[in-house]
Amino acid sequence: MILGTIPTRLVGAGVAEREEARVRRGTNLPWVGDYNQAVVLDGVRRHPGTSRTDLALATGLTLQTVSNIVRRLLERGLVAEGEPLSRNGSRVGGKPRTALAVRSGAALAVGVQFEREHVDAVLLDLSGEVLAADREPLPDLPGSRERAVEVAVTHATGVVRRLIDTCGSPDAVLGVGVAVPGPLDFAGPVRSSAINLPGWRGVAIADMLAASTGLPVLVENDATAAAVGDLWRSRRVGRSFLYVHVGAGIGGGVVVRDEVLRGESGNAGEIGHVVVEPDGPACSCGAGGCLEAVAAPAAVVRRYAERVGVAAARRAGLRLAERSVLDDHDRLGVRAAAGDEAAGQELQTAARAIGRVVLGVVNVVDVSEVVLGGSGLRHAGERIRDAVRAALGVAMTREVHPVEVRFSDAGEQAGALGAASAVLHEALSSTWVGVHVPAREIVISPVAPVH
Ligand SMILES: [Zn+2]
Repeated sequence: MILGTIPTRLVGAGVAEREEARVRRGTNLPWVGDYNQAVVLDGVRRHPGTSRTDLALATGLTLQTVSNIVRRLLERGLVAEGEPLSRNGSRVGGKPRTALAVRSGAALAVGVQFEREHVDAVLLDLSGEVLAADREPLPDLPGSRERAVEVAVTHATGVVRRLIDTCGSPDAVLGVGVAVPGPLDFAGPVRSSAINLPGWRGVAIADMLAASTGLPVLVENDATAAAVGDLWRSRRVGRSFLYVHVGAGIGGGVVVRDEVLRGESGNAGEIGHVVVEPDGPACSCGAGGCLEAVAAPAAVVRRYAERVGVAAARRAGLRLAERSVLDDHDRLGVRAAAGDEAAGQELQTAARAIGRVVLGVVNVVDVSEVVLGGSGLRHAGERIRDAVRAALGVAMTREVHPVEVRFSDAGEQAGALGAASAVLHEALSSTWVGVHVPAREIVISPVAPVH
């Protein structure tokens, strides 16, 4: 991919405020009109207030091509024109430049994230803003794993309908994105066998939700979804990063130069199943000593209880139940801060293990950012961030480029937000053209090309 660097303007920013924007390059070959449309729309979306002239400079397309595409995007209601821009108060080439922006309500998507205890859902607009969000608790169904999936889908359908009802323009909803823990199977009907969700074995989740909501459904591994969300809502292009999700399990999403790495079957980035202790504890995936079995909240809580004894752990405020793992993990974070050495050491062991695996991945895929997210970071986030930073001190590329380590700004709904972003990304972004990805959707129609 070739990048161009040119100045664009912000809406209402006046003459003085400019920023260097890096925008994808287009091509003037006639048969790639759909690609060019995606490039132009992506440029407008990432840089509200940009002009046709700026877009032409940034994309390498002729001003005429950009103008034609913008005219049709205006006709279709995807883009709107704002105030005329002027440079130093004068007209440029006799014709005022006009600020362009996407019409944020023109395309919407719902994102759904399945967790053990609840379903999260968000309604996202074209500009990346969350219009509405909801969380539906799931009932505990001990001994009825078969019904667990059915009940989860029923609850998810309810929350999707509620969100769409609130938006006032149901026709603008392009589809539903679903974030689930891996592994996934994209061959045939998209199936999820989420090892961290009870009863999920070969669940044809896309078919089920498409039938119950009447909408196209796209399925994404939860950490990959979170990575797509971070990518979609970013103004920069050409990013390479690893998204590390620490929730009930540990997962990863890899983005290299804006391309989302999904692998052969949609399961790329499963950093939770990198072996860190060859003789370590059994993992839910069937192997032993995986990062998840050593460093996920459940592992930290279990080791603490083994170390101090179950009675002492309960006195320390831990409930030690399957559904209380994240709360117990939070409790250990609070206790560690208050001086509980055992809690601090177990959390540190986990943080160091995460750091080691992140170092390995960074060395393999050469990224310049590590983004941390998930509910396992509520009280352990800074410790994990610091351990990752320390581990990256010996990264192969340390003298070539820095690797920034930061927290995701998407909060605990990163998966849902990412799944909704994936729908918009699939339908509208310039990266969907020409990139072979596994078919993971029940047809999210791309916005029709301009010819
Ligand atoms: Zn494993």
